[in-house]
Amino acid sequence: MPEGDTVWRTARRLHQVFAGEPLTRCDLRWPELSTLDFTGQRTLAVISRGKHLLHRLDSGWTIHSHLRMDGQWRIEKPNARANAQTRALLGTTEWTALGQRLGMLDVVHTADEHTLVGHLGPDVLGPDWNPRLAEQNLIAAATTIGAALLDQTNLAGVGTLYASESLFLEKLNPWTPAGELPAQRIAAIIDRAHRLLQANKDFAVQSTTGSRRHGETGYVHARNGQPCRRCGGTVRVAMIGPPTRERTMFYCPGCQGGLGPTDDGRPQQRLGSSGSTYRG
Ligand SMILES: [Zn+2]
Repeated sequence: MPEGDTVWRTARRLHQVFAGEPLTRCDLRWPELSTLDFTGQRTLAVISRGKHLLHRLDSGWTIHSHLRMDGQWRIEKPNARANAQTRALLGTTEWTALGQRLGMLDVVHTADEHTLVGHLGPDVLGPDWNPRLAEQNLIAAATTIGAALLDQTNLAGVGTLYASESLFLEKLNPWTPAGELPAQRIAAIIDRAHRLLQANKDFAVQSTTGSRRHGETGYVHARNGQPCRRCGGTVRVAMIGPPTRERTMFYCPGCQGGLGPTDDGRPQQRLGSSGSTYRG
């Protein structure tokens, strides 16, 4: 799943292509939106908010999208055509952006954007990033630190990759109740996640190890069944969070205080064929 840094980079690219330009093509392939046509309207800005994208037009409308599991915005030549995976097509005289496999698409008045993103906690990569508020939210979360980090209402932009890697780097068990952690520890986790996202926002290949070479980019994410780079033990994956909203968490029991309560300890196969393909 694309995380905050990927969405931030997507917004920047869309902004570069669209800002100040009138739309020459507009095709929203989404229930209730398919008759809307914003052709002729000029783009004011495209910004990210957590994992959400907001495309603001000078008419006072905002096109909101979310990439969810495997969506993306692809920038193509001006005559690019939609295909079966296209959920939105927006174009200028120079470029066409194809919103592929989007998880959400909405159109709202720009003044009402809060109805779509107002529930989000502070945006890790946002101009108004507020680590103190994120810290307060995590301390107050009545759940594990791993689930709390993934909850976008506490802080926005952290997904499985950065939650797993941050907790590994902080040598903390993901199933530790957030409320039991000292504020200093919480602040260190937030700082770690923020620095990882910042360091990766300009790169297509995400790395938490400092290496962008294939197979060397992470410590635990998508590395279950493989040896831990620190202790040599076996990296594992288990589910975390409330039933019906469970997420995956990668971790090293050796470095992070033992097996999680949802981990039966059985041998695990690696997810996918390469460490960089799984983006859950
Ligand atoms: Zn380890």
